[in-house]
Amino acid sequence: MDTVLLSDSNNELEKAADLIRNGEIVGIPTETVYGLGADASNEDAVRRVFEAKGRPADNPLIVHLADFSQAKEYTTSIPELAYKLAERFCPGPLTMVLPKNDRIPMITSGGLDTVGIRVPSHRVMHRIIELSGRPIAAPSANTSGYPSPTSAEHVMRDMNGKIAAVVDGGSSEFGVESTVISIESRNSVRILRPGCITKEMLSELCSEVIIDRAILHELEAGQKAASPGMKYKHYSPKADIIMVEGSLESFISYVGAHNGEGVCSLIFDTDKECFPYRYMTYGKDSSEQAHLLFQRLRELDDAGAEKVYVRAPETEGVGLAVYNRLIRAAGFEVIRI
Ligand code: AMP
Ligand code: MG
Repeated sequence: MDTVLLSDSNNELEKAADLIRNGEIVGIPTETVYGLGADASNEDAVRRVFEAKGRPADNPLIVHLADFSQAKEYTTSIPELAYKLAERFCPGPLTMVLPKNDRIPMITSGGLDTVGIRVPSHRVMHRIIELSGRPIAAPSANTSGYPSPTSAEHVMRDMNGKIAAVVDGGSSEFGVESTVISIESRNSVRILRPGCITKEMLSELCSEVIIDRAILHELEAGQKAASPGMKYKHYSPKADIIMVEGSLESFISYVGAHNGEGVCSLIFDTDKECFPYRYMTYGKDSSEQAHLLFQRLRELDDAGAEKVYVRAPETEGVGLAVYNRLIRAAGFEVIRI
């Protein structure tokens, strides 16, 4: 199959929506990362999404709607708190896990009786949902396990020949996937995957915001994942990623002691004046780090890096999302100095 590159003109978005209606798969820009969009109610299309990514069948797809008011068409009940959160954060990078009804096939929800619902704010994704008139299932448009794509070029690299088209909408604004939450009680939520809607932001509307243990810790043998995606090694480039926590001085001496051919460090912009070894930078604060992280992980592979020492980001605010992706990219290899 030839994968067509579409622009984000109205005409081409109509083509993209037609493809989705006809059961095809299209790479679509969103404000988080690029998604692999398919009609969430079409079992055959969804099956091919899993195949194109090489994604395990028990890792559910998020369903994207044009407006949160449509969520009731695909769920059996929606708690008051979900409406309150939607009013503040939808459209935007927040996914709420809700009990699904029969209009969402089991294959889409990875066999769960719940479905993750998101209302994206990106003009292109929003328009394609509207034009297609379908709920759109869209996992990140990367090969399973590899860093998520934040540009049309990344999607082309992973998906060329496997999907019908990719819409080029420029580079993704946030750069990390949506915050995934479940509603625990009348006033309490659990973060299953951190993103740009932070714990601090959710705390303004919820009396309790629980950070699921799997966000920062490896699952123990036999432990059940609240979010199936947390079970898998994820976001990993070919290079071996090692996260190093500590001051800049201790980071420099650690890298100095472990330097060699194929080593490249990933440091903060503010570190570069005094960093004497080979490096790339990934921004000066958490938002920039989120925006740049996946692109840099891909660039490190392109540059032939084999071992990457990463300065650990903070775990406050959006930093928690960056830390969560990195700790998985590192297969939980963290050095504290
Ligand atoms: P991706 O599609 O690559 O953005 O990944 C979606 C993430 O959302 C995965 O980690 C899933 O495990 C999580 N997710 C999606 N739907 C559900 C659900 N119904 N319950 C729990 N987690 C979900
Ligand atoms: Mg993904």
